Amino acid sequence: MPRVKNFNAGPAALPLPALERARDEFLDFAGSGMSVMEHSHRGKEYEAVHDEALALLRELLGVPDAYDVLFVQGGASQLFAQIPMNLVEKGRGADYLVTGAWGEKAFSEAKAATAMLGASARLAGTTGEGEGKEKRYVRAATAADLQVSPDAAYLHLTSNETIHGVQFAVDPARPFPDAGKVPLVADMSSDFLWKPVDVSRFGLIYAGAQKNIGPSGVVVVIVRKDLVAAGRKDIPKIFQLRTPAENKSLYNTPPTFGIYMIRNVLAWLKGLGGLGAMEQRNRAKAGKLYGVIDANPGFYRCPVERESRSVMNVVFRLPAEADEERFVKEAKAKGMVGLKGHRSVGGIRVSTYNAVEPAWLDELCAFMQDFAKRG
Ligand SMILES: *Cc1c(COP(=O)(O)O)cnc(C)c1O
Repeated sequence: MPRVKNFNAGPAALPLPALERARDEFLDFAGSGMSVMEHSHRGKEYEAVHDEALALLRELLGVPDAYDVLFVQGGASQLFAQIPMNLVEKGRGADYLVTGAWGEKAFSEAKAATAMLGASARLAGTTGEGEGKEKRYVRAATAADLQVSPDAAYLHLTSNETIHGVQFAVDPARPFPDAGKVPLVADMSSDFLWKPVDVSRFGLIYAGAQKNIGPSGVVVVIVRKDLVAAGRKDIPKIFQLRTPAENKSLYNTPPTFGIYMIRNVLAWLKGLGGLGAMEQRNRAKAGKLYGVIDANPGFYRCPVERESRSVMNVVFRLPAEADEERFVKEAKAKGMVGLKGHRSVGGIRVSTYNAVEPAWLDELCAFMQDFAKRG
């Protein structure tokens, strides 16, 4: 069976060279006579991999010294609760900007976590209310949508809404919001490392690995050291961000194989030219796809406003649900999988993460042109 063209939203495609590298050293890692998974997380063989993954993250993103880079378990969903647990104080809550389904979930978990600690989570802005269902979450927020409380512990946003296909900072007209002195916290799970980012604009960035940089089971957290130091100490140690920060993310057993795969993916990314080259490649891929959608206005319809159209998850509709079903089925027969939209919104979703090859998009676009012509 040849490998398929995988457009899954997450877990998602991994770069073939990263997988091949894992295959080649699967049974015998670095001449040690065992796989990397079987090594002690305290041994020098694993530690070298761990250190390399951390160093590559710092190098690729240009992470300033004032920030810690951490590996945390529990998925991005655990961070929805863990971040407020660390950062709020009694009477000093957190603000949330909600631009899609993941932001809703983060806000909901923050409400539960802050209530436990005598604080609260507040909706500081949303693009999902009062506009009717068809118009919900079709754009990134602007300054006009947002009212940050000046004493909030942080402002949380979702840089790319994986289900709604809405992304910040694709177009200069939709930059990341300015929260003044309030630290910005961003869930970058589905657009982490898609392009260079100015880390110093954020207090904390977190990303589940399984969308753009590796397998599930690891979350990368990049956090300002002063926020870690000021974090609560009355929550369980395992939830305190200072615990991985003070122990190089080796307080307890980390997900060693996941971190090893991240190392392989980051080495591949660096070899391709780093984040600048990746941005060009990603913009070209998504641009081609939106081009086909816009060239067939009676057939394909993207609900997302132009300035907010995601470069990572391209969502669109066909004239009828029956057409969408046929589209997914015919594409699958041609070796293109993972195209069905999220069950909560329907339609088609093409995830074009870093590992998705430009040639796959060429093939998909040719199929889409032909499909539209046949009607
Ligand atoms: C997938 C996703 C999550 C959830 O990640 P888990 O690791 O499954 O908890 C959170 N936020 C965004 C933006 C996502 O795309």
